[in-house]
Amino acid sequence: MHDAGLRVNRNTGRVAGLPLVSAERIERSVVWVGDVPVGGEQVVVMAGPCSVESREQVIATALAIKQNGATALRGGAYKPRTSPYDFQGLGVDGLKILREAGDLAGLPVVTEVMCEDDISVICDHADMLQVGARNMQNFALLKKLSKCGKPILLKRGASATVKEWLAAAEYLLHGGNDDVILCERGIKTFDSSLRNTLDLAAVALVREMTHLPVIVDPSHATGKRSLIAATAKAAIAVGADGVIVEVHPDPDNAWSDGAQSLTFGLFEKMMGEIAKPLRTIMVRTAETRV
Ligand code: PEP
Ligand code: MN
Repeated sequence: MHDAGLRVNRNTGRVAGLPLVSAERIERSVVWVGDVPVGGEQVVVMAGPCSVESREQVIATALAIKQNGATALRGGAYKPRTSPYDFQGLGVDGLKILREAGDLAGLPVVTEVMCEDDISVICDHADMLQVGARNMQNFALLKKLSKCGKPILLKRGASATVKEWLAAAEYLLHGGNDDVILCERGIKTFDSSLRNTLDLAAVALVREMTHLPVIVDPSHATGKRSLIAATAKAAIAVGADGVIVEVHPDPDNAWSDGAQSLTFGLFEKMMGEIAKPLRTIMVRTAETRV
């Protein structure tokens, strides 16, 4: 689709060419991930390692994040790595570990799906399937996922415009899957100070233009552990329905994305910092929709 920018009908609120994701269609959507509602009054915190490395690692992480108020467990069993020589994920064994850890801690599980062939086995183990930034415009995958019967976490491509991101979501709804959560995870810009540039205005924008829940990934957006709490708070302040952060028992020895993973202690600290604003000034209401 030629991206001529987002054109919105001022009377109806409909985004041109994207009738199903447009805000005018229905009330704000609440997407259930297992027994956790996303997009309601409660802000959600999904957390866990970038990659599933071992049973002990994931179980320890699941219990630690649960204890500190996380609402879902994340972890990659199929990893989209820039180099073919990097760790590619444990595959089905990783899925089994995630399921066991999620059940043990009482947390729903979200994990990435990279190709059509893996959809069925991932659906057998996970509560939500993540489409990674690198696959946002894999339309064959999106079409298959629109029929999979599980909610989808749709990450924004690193070089995708908001319109392209929303068009990818439209594919899922068009194919019959209404349970879509958008995730801003940083985009490529001229600035190389950080891994990516967190586009917080886009978060406010898609909350205004669509009825879909939107969450923010401060780990991939910044690439830097020390910035995660600050950007998570900022995300919630602009209206995000939640955050997804990487947490690892020993980040310095993580097999992927250690520099942007929180220790258990830092996760606890971040939760303490975001809990207060959540209870007070940032209590979310239905009127946040414009
Ligand atoms: C991830 O969640 O570990 C990941 C690979 O994310 P992204 O697709 O946003 O790079
Ligand atoms: Mn990662």
